[in-house]
Amino acid sequence: MTTLADPIPGGRPGDVERAGALTEELTGRGVHGVVLAYVDTAGVGRVKTIPTAKLASAAAWGVGMSPVFDTFLANDSIVSTDVLGSPDGDLRLYPDLDQLVVLAGQPGWAWAPVDRITQEGEPHPGCSRTVLRRVVAEAAERHGLSFKAGIEIEWAVGQGPAEGGDFVPALSGPAYSATRQVELSDYTADLLAAFAAQGVDVEQIHPEYAAGQFEISVGALDPVAAADRSVLVRQTIRAVAQRHGLVVSFAPAVFAQGVGNGGHVHLSAWRDGVNLHSGGEARYGMTADAESFAAGVLARLPALTAVTAPSPASYLRLKPSQWAGVFTAWGRETREAAVRIVTGTAGLRDQAANLEVKPVDLAANPYLALACLITAGLDGLTSSTPLPEEITGDPARLEPADAAARGVRRLPVSLSESVEEFRKDELLRAALGPVLADAVIAVRQGEIAAVDGLDDERVAAAYRWKY
Ligand code: GLU
Ligand code: MG
Repeated sequence: MTTLADPIPGGRPGDVERAGALTEELTGRGVHGVVLAYVDTAGVGRVKTIPTAKLASAAAWGVGMSPVFDTFLANDSIVSTDVLGSPDGDLRLYPDLDQLVVLAGQPGWAWAPVDRITQEGEPHPGCSRTVLRRVVAEAAERHGLSFKAGIEIEWAVGQGPAEGGDFVPALSGPAYSATRQVELSDYTADLLAAFAAQGVDVEQIHPEYAAGQFEISVGALDPVAAADRSVLVRQTIRAVAQRHGLVVSFAPAVFAQGVGNGGHVHLSAWRDGVNLHSGGEARYGMTADAESFAAGVLARLPALTAVTAPSPASYLRLKPSQWAGVFTAWGRETREAAVRIVTGTAGLRDQAANLEVKPVDLAANPYLALACLITAGLDGLTSSTPLPEEITGDPARLEPADAAARGVRRLPVSLSESVEEFRKDELLRAALGPVLADAVIAVRQGEIAAVDGLDDERVAAAYRWKY
């Protein structure tokens, strides 16, 4: 379990001693430096790195970094809100030692996610990891609930070095094919070795549909650890690819047309160690709470997309009939519904049942995405929101009147539409707090302005190598 305690100046109890012991161990394993990782509001992974010898000092006093990154755009220009975006000020980055791993794909390096606090020792209101820790802690305190989450990762493997920002697929076999598996046999075997060495529990890794595309799924964890893992897995996929002379893109749309890269979120709510999505009296074995949780997510999806699909390129992916889930509909194992109910196989359901949210991509900050998805589900659960009728098949085939009668709505078709929905959603804004909610809006508006006048191909190209 991830520690839910905030960092404090001087270090969380026991952390400095632990960092001292870790330093010795890491040095003995040839680790020279530690990558301190977080994800900005735009969804870009940002880092500071320190020599291994400074780990205990980082655990005690943090490492400095400007708060300006909270309003960075994917193209590294800066927007501002009334409190963020200024060149003034400094924050302290604190590594979470529970999540520190030696990077198998980057010899000489270890990695840890960070929480950010102010120089005064207060939690930084722009820290998305802190916000998710809060959401999880409050759900436990107020409702006795815990969650498990897993983020699927799809990525496109290209021949490197990519010239002029182009993407040239590194493989040519058909989707899901044995040919593709053989084509990238060495790379994917090295990936599996790296994940095993890093203690990452891989469920599956397989060739996907789009040009050069692969997918990996990993075991479910508590939400903060699941978000950390998503960041770590991508760092590893990229590093191992580079050692094979390959390049990778996690962008929602590598090209303007065709199937994109998803970052589907699997989520389940648990009470007293019991999975609420299994063994209940409601549809497909869901408990009434699990139905309402799904209904809460469904009801807020249009606003959620501002967080789960945060890039202008996200809307090149979010198209009907491409398994990205662009309608506010749910169904059991329905790959075109935004919310897919996964019951699991008979015999394993008490462990495996969950809901999958599909309109999520890997431009999303995973901490913000999980914080907002849990907030939405929890609101449904606590207000006993009824889950509408199930939809089977592709909702795109429904006549408009039929879709409207069933409450099936097309999700926003642009980032501008999503931002307007998010602006109206007081619950989601409150969950993030005013500083972060304003940063989300300012950064999205900045991204919209950054692509003003660009055609779809240029939008895809602008974000192809950013995430
Ligand atoms: N690539 C699809 C997406 O953009 C998902 C395919 C799948 O269901 O795995 O979300
Ligand atoms: Mg897939």
